[in-house]
Order: sequence, then structure tokens, then C-alpha cells
Amino acid sequence: MARIAFIGLGNMGGPMAANLVKAGHQVTGFDLAAPVLQAAQAQGVTAASHISQAVLDAEIVVTMLPQGKHVLSAWTDILRSIPAGTLVIDSSTIDVDSARKAHEMASNAGCLSLDAPVSGGTGGAAAGTLTFMAGGSDEAFAKAKPILEAMGKKIVHCGEPGAGQAAKICNNMILGISMIGVCEAFALGEKLGLSHQALFDVASTSSGQCWSISTYCPVPGPVPTSPANNGYKPGFAAALMLKDLRLSQEAALSTGASTPLGAEASQLYALFEKQGNGGRDFSAIIEMLRGTSQ
Ligand code: NAD
Repeated sequence: MARIAFIGLGNMGGPMAANLVKAGHQVTGFDLAAPVLQAAQAQGVTAASHISQAVLDAEIVVTMLPQGKHVLSAWTDILRSIPAGTLVIDSSTIDVDSARKAHEMASNAGCLSLDAPVSGGTGGAAAGTLTFMAGGSDEAFAKAKPILEAMGKKIVHCGEPGAGQAAKICNNMILGISMIGVCEAFALGEKLGLSHQALFDVASTSSGQCWSISTYCPVPGPVPTSPANNGYKPGFAAALMLKDLRLSQEAALSTGASTPLGAEASQLYALFEKQGNGGRDFSAIIEMLRGTSQ
């Protein structure tokens, strides 16, 4: 069993650290927010009073923080406090450029590093069923895999440093675009007098099939577990979808990739958030597309 430091114990990091404890690892945690740190303590995490204290004896360090700037600042402190050879894993969703910079910092300090963002949300974090998308060396991936398996059910090595973040934002750009497409089709079907169930029965078994319709249908009825049946309580909040779409557009800009539908999806989610919907599930955007959002 390993000595693990976990930095960032929020909605995702808290349950992920708890699963490491359940798997028998010795976990020391740090978070800037005291209530979050206390909640982690109740799950068996040893609370540290400073980031450098948390990582002192760690063989592996995991960070789960909001944005690239938080990760770079935390990794600066971490890399000052750990010996060469230690593995540092970032599971936050951040921009690819910051992820690559973090790898470079780790390499300069003689440490192993992995970007390993997740999909599966807070439910997956609690159940230990996250999907990890990893970028980094074979050596870093091999060392990280058993640890990631305590928090997730599918662990994919996507390639070189930054490849995990690249996979995450490309996947979520598909998701944002496909959700808007499915919502538009249901809104048009309503105008044409087509029942939700009829459109679902056809499109979910035809060429229009995708996760946004088959698993996460944005209208109530056809998929009883989708947030549409629960007042659009997230699930996956629209603000987080907007964050990921913006990351995809930053990456498109910095690489010169053409992503016109990603750009449009990003603008539509920005408008949806501006209308006060950032905390609702991202599939609720159907209301704005119908013109019925407040
Ligand atoms: P959160 O805001 O609940 O947790 C982030 C935590 O980091 C907070 O508790 C904050 O106090 C702490 N923090 C910030 N700076 C810190 C620092 N320098 N040192 C120590 N702690 C610090 O966010 P979350 O929902 O847990 O998301 C974390 C990351 O996971 C984000 O990048 C997010 O995009 C990604 N993600 C979230 C979800 C989701 O459904 N919530 C799903 C997939 C990926």
C-alpha cells in the first residue's frame, strides 16, 4: 500500500481520496477550505495544515484543483518539497498548455508526472467508477495505474504529456455539440407534432444515435434516469460544460484547428449560463433552444 498525498478535496477530490483510503492506502490531504478538509478527515484522510506538510513523506501526489493556474501554483510548492523520483498526478480538467508546463516542471525536478483527467462526475467519483485519460511516460503510467484503479474502472493511456487533457476536451466538445444537436431535434419534433417517445425510438436506434440521446435524453420520459426527469438537477452542470468547451476553444486557437461547431456550442452555453442556468444540468439547454428558458 502506498503513502499518497491528495491536494484538493472538493466535490471530486473528496470522494476520490476516500476511495484511496478504502483501498488501504495511507492518504494525507490538504485543501485551502477548512470544511472540506474536515469532511475528508471524517473519511479517514489525515489532514495536513500546509501543502508542503501533506507531501512530505508521499510516494505519490495527486492534485484535483479547479484550473490550470491552481495546478501550476500547487505543483510549484509540491515539487519544492518532494524528492526526485516521486510521481505527481494531476486529475483536474485544465488547459493542455498548462498541463504540458506542469510536466516540464516535474521533469526539471527529476519527478515522474501524469495528466489524468476524469469523466464520470461526482457520482463516478463516489462509486469509484471514473474513467481516467492519462498522458505521460510509460513509466509514470505503469506506476500510477494501480492507484488510479482504486478510483476508477477504466484507465486509458492516451499518449505523451498533455494527451489526457487533449482527450478529455475533445470528448467533451463532442458531448456539448451532440447535446445541442439532440435538443434541437426534439424542439423541432415538438413543433412538427412528433411525440418525444417516437423520436427517441427512431433516433436512438438509427443513425442519429449518440450518448446524448440514448443515455442522457434531454426530455423527460424515454430515459427515466436522465436529469430531464428530475428538474434538470445535475448530473453535469452547464457551467462545467462551458468550462470544458472554452478549454477546447483555447486549444483550437493555440493549435490553429478549425472547430466551428465547438465555437458555436461554447457561445450557446455562455448565453445559457448568463441567463442564470450555470448550476442546472447541461441538458436543460433545450429550454433556451425552445425559447422557454427564464
Ligand atoms: P471543487 O471546487 O469542488 O474542488 C476544488 C477544491 O480545490 C476546492 O475544495 C478548493 O478549496 C481546492 N483548492 C483550490 N486551490 C487550492 C490549492 N492551491 N491548494 C489546495 N486546495 C485548493 O471542484 P471539483 O468539482 O472537485 O472539480 C475539480 C476538478 O475536476 C476541476 O478541474 C473540474 O473541472 C474537474 N471535474 C469535475 C467534475 C464534476 O462533475 N464536478 C467532473 C469531471 C472533472
